Amino acid sequence: METKPALAGLFPGEIAELLKPLQPFRAGQIHQWICKGAVSFADMNNLPAALRDELERRFRLFSGSVSAELEDPDGTVKFRISFEDSVKIESVILASSEGRKTACLSTQAGCPIGCVFCKTGQMGFTRDLSSREIIEELLFLTRRERGISHIVIMGMGEPLLNLKELRRAVAYFTDILKISKRRITLSTSGVTGGIWDFTDNGPDIRLALSLTTGRQELRERLMPVAQSNPLAELKESLMYYQQKRKRRITLEAVLLGGVNTTPADAAALAGFARGLDAVVNLIPWNPVDGLCFEGKPLRSPGAAETAGFASALKEKGLNVTFRYKKGRGVLGACGQLGQQE
Ligand code: SF4
Repeated sequence: METKPALAGLFPGEIAELLKPLQPFRAGQIHQWICKGAVSFADMNNLPAALRDELERRFRLFSGSVSAELEDPDGTVKFRISFEDSVKIESVILASSEGRKTACLSTQAGCPIGCVFCKTGQMGFTRDLSSREIIEELLFLTRRERGISHIVIMGMGEPLLNLKELRRAVAYFTDILKISKRRITLSTSGVTGGIWDFTDNGPDIRLALSLTTGRQELRERLMPVAQSNPLAELKESLMYYQQKRKRRITLEAVLLGGVNTTPADAAALAGFARGLDAVVNLIPWNPVDGLCFEGKPLRSPGAAETAGFASALKEKGLNVTFRYKKGRGVLGACGQLGQQE
């Protein structure tokens, strides 16, 4: 059976092109309905009934659908989204105590990077998401929650391995949904070539590096991407980004109890940060059943271990922030996406 084309994720001009010879203002109306959260053509009550029927016959609104919404008492909402080939991904709305709402989006189904501390990394890689699927993710989230003001591209997958599709999605977010590029952050595991490309060719958004450790040999064991993207080259690419884009970088460190929290780790991380305008974001590991590092189960660091590591970084002059455990109740916190409850 032939699949009907979906209209969500298309720019208004593309919808107008598809619907020719319909008057372009009708395409604009349809697009506005999509952005306002319409779930069917029948919702579009300023369109003539005959046009709604025709649209229903010829098109779909979305190519994917939300198969589950799970809400944590802390305000985090995790979405499970299925696309037409039955591929499933997860996206999250994070609510801060100040009321800021942030969408955490995925760019791939699964992930080829394989970080040992991340559930998604252990699932393997299925495929890249198309720009339209990435846009649909945000549209599904905004349908549930009005007022999403920030986006972090930190969900499932390595965004710099799907940069072409991401560029188009970010253009939609900034140009059509009017989300400021300063409020969009891409987090990479450290794909050096991708950082050069991102710096030269956009999108012009904020950058975070999931550093986790400034020790090359440990990083190679925790994040296989480090084997072909050594820290020295990574630093060079970040210096280039900073020189060209003039934006502060976030260095994220997932803290693994007993693995990367010693004074030597703090010194190595500070050494990597030297010369960069960076803030260090510490993320005490969010538990995932069954994940081990070299035969030993991973664990979250204790409060004293976390505080000691943070103090050691601060003593070296680093600006340190924390990302707390939001969304753990629905397995929607950093590193937990892809778990089946
Ligand atoms: S942390 Fe990010 S890059 Fe690493 S495996 Fe998980 S999703 Fe992939």
